[in-house]
Amino acid sequence: MITIPIYDMIILPDVTYYFKKDVLKDLGAQGAEKGDQLLFLMLKEDKSRKDMTMSDFYPIGVIGELETIDGDGNVSVKTGERVEVSDLQVTEEAIEASVSVRKVEEDIESEEIQERFEKMRSTLLHFIQGFQWGIWARSYVLHWKSMNEVVSALSGYLTLSDDEKYAILASDTVSERMERIEKAIYEFIEMARVSEEAETAQQEKHEKVYREEAIKKQIDFLQRQLDEMHPENVSDIRKFEQKLQDSGMNQDARKEADKVLNRMKQEGKDSHEYGLLYDYLDFVTSLSWKKMDAEDVDLKESEEILDREHYGLKKVKQRIVQQMAVMALKQSQSGSILLFVGAPGTGKTSIGQSIAEALHRKYVRVSLGGVRDEAGIRGHRRTYVGAMPGRIMEGMKRCGTSNPVMVLDEVDKLSRDYSGDPASALLEVLDPEQNNNFTDHYMNVPYDLSDVLFVCTANTTDTIPEPLLNRMEVIQFPGYTAVEKFQIARKHLLPKAMKGMGIKAQNLKVTDQAVQAIISDYTRESGVRGLKKRLDGLCRYAAVKLVKGEQKSITVSPKRLPEFLDRKPIRHEEALEEKKQGIVTGLAWTAAGGEILFVETLFTKGEGKVKVTGQLGDVMKESAQIAVSLVKSRYPEAAEAFKTNDLHIHVPSGAVPKDGPSAGITLTTALASLVTKKPVSPEYAMTGEVSLRGTVMPIGGLPEKLMAAQRAGISKVFIPEDNVDDLDDVAEEVKEKLEIIPVKKVEEVLERVL
Ligand code: ADP
Repeated sequence: MITIPIYDMIILPDVTYYFKKDVLKDLGAQGAEKGDQLLFLMLKEDKSRKDMTMSDFYPIGVIGELETIDGDGNVSVKTGERVEVSDLQVTEEAIEASVSVRKVEEDIESEEIQERFEKMRSTLLHFIQGFQWGIWARSYVLHWKSMNEVVSALSGYLTLSDDEKYAILASDTVSERMERIEKAIYEFIEMARVSEEAETAQQEKHEKVYREEAIKKQIDFLQRQLDEMHPENVSDIRKFEQKLQDSGMNQDARKEADKVLNRMKQEGKDSHEYGLLYDYLDFVTSLSWKKMDAEDVDLKESEEILDREHYGLKKVKQRIVQQMAVMALKQSQSGSILLFVGAPGTGKTSIGQSIAEALHRKYVRVSLGGVRDEAGIRGHRRTYVGAMPGRIMEGMKRCGTSNPVMVLDEVDKLSRDYSGDPASALLEVLDPEQNNNFTDHYMNVPYDLSDVLFVCTANTTDTIPEPLLNRMEVIQFPGYTAVEKFQIARKHLLPKAMKGMGIKAQNLKVTDQAVQAIISDYTRESGVRGLKKRLDGLCRYAAVKLVKGEQKSITVSPKRLPEFLDRKPIRHEEALEEKKQGIVTGLAWTAAGGEILFVETLFTKGEGKVKVTGQLGDVMKESAQIAVSLVKSRYPEAAEAFKTNDLHIHVPSGAVPKDGPSAGITLTTALASLVTKKPVSPEYAMTGEVSLRGTVMPIGGLPEKLMAAQRAGISKVFIPEDNVDDLDDVAEEVKEKLEIIPVKKVEEVLERVL
């Protein structure tokens, strides 16, 4: 008898088992023939043939008979009685067993057995109905004729231990075996049912989620289609929902905006609050929250753009190109903060615009003139009535990108009052350490300004607070000479004005002399703003004439200027015609550029009083006193004259306020001329502060002053020696026409002119 070890299978009497021949061979039944008796013994654990020992087997097995072997190698074995092993020899070649039949006690009626089997089968049939594979499995189930068959067929699916499987075989009564089988099968069905239910529940849950998502998407799609068809009906809430989603805001900002949006949903459209909430959302969604990549900068192209839009300004352009180069090397979108200082109309703002163009970035101008408190820069908290964002963020909204070139105009016109210092808020804006987290009070969430290139402008550095000034790099715009202004008018201002008004070149000609006359007789400025206004005015006047058809082509000569400009020429102070005692020409700096001025002195009979007129400021009045003391000490013989006379010092034009120390040298010279009775030649002009020791100290605004001197027909100018370096900023054509005499001591002037 061939012994076949089996593992993980329930093998019972009176069941037909089917094997693959190969499997049976592997199990040790290679020589088995039809009709051979086989002994099946169950293994306690899975082991290979050569490792098996006697103790690996359970003691009870089943005898079977090999019934058929078909052509495909399938073998059927019909089992018979149970046997008990009394002796077992396990060698590598074969397992020899001595067995004896082990009887089973038939302790229940065959009807009951049949009944319980039928019940089990119908439960199984009912159970498999719920599955797709149920139809296929049904024929199997119908085929089973005993519980032994059922449990044998399903043995691979049952969660029974090896011992439990063996226990079914080892049961010595029919009732015990049936109970064990029923327990295994019904448990199996219940477990399958529970896991099926759990799976279905889970599936339902998933399905619900998917379904919900799908419906949402559908609604969204349909809503968008509707919105496109009727844009006027899109509700504010929806509009903002969409905008917020697309905005790319940081988390903080999104949280705040969502909060506001929720408030808006709760407030009705009619509520007062609604408008404020709307404004807030409109503001934050108009800002750009996305980082912009810097474009590569082509320095050559940048230079061309700067040159194309602006005549002259060589040093300024050079410095700007340097800045661009550094930014390119550092791969940074911002750099040191430039401060353009110069008189109005010298091109500070418009060159800012060209920088933006050269860098291919947006340009935005923010005027700081008249900002009096911190809120101007940083905004009001939203709890304020009429709260608004500050000018910086308002500028960011206007340009709609995160990396514009922002020109902060008139930083010298910031003032401060009781409600906080705007300059310190501005410091924070400009500080690269802090400005990536700039929080406007109105927005209440941080915004990144670190990619903004800031350019500031001012007329003077005098009124800019020190800490702010330290943060910036000053670039002077010295103002234009008449020659430069002529070029600017010809190349830029006039063509632009004509183009702007649709006037063709053949219809309007302005002669060179006329342009020069406008510059010299109709404007008084360092910059070209007045010149631009005059030229615009001229073109407007010409446009009317052309449209009326009075003339087909117009030529404007100096003679026709009063008509075209509708104004008289301005009177400039001209150098004096003749020399007079006590009168000396000085040079002054005004916001509009340089001017010459005259210091007039006169003795009248009296008792040593000093009178000063001409709207002089405190500093200038002190200069006058210094001059008096100096002259008294230099000319002791004249001391008597100061006692017996009253001294009157006047600086015309009387209506224009004047101040500053730079008239010191002029006042001293005028007084010296008065006491020595020696007139000073009107070809001389001078500027310089004077100390009581007679030292000439440096002054500001030299280029403008020298330009004014040249324009007024002066030929020789005294300047403080310490200002010699500033001559670099003075145009060549001015220097050519003037004899510039640097002096250290007031005596050097007096010796030369008296
Ligand atoms: P600022 O800001 O210094 O007061 P703007 O930049 O507003 O002066 O300049 C006033 C006008 O003069 C602008 O139209 C500008 O284009 C023009 N302008 C100034 N300087 C030049 C220049 N060098 N070349 C061409 N146009 C100039």
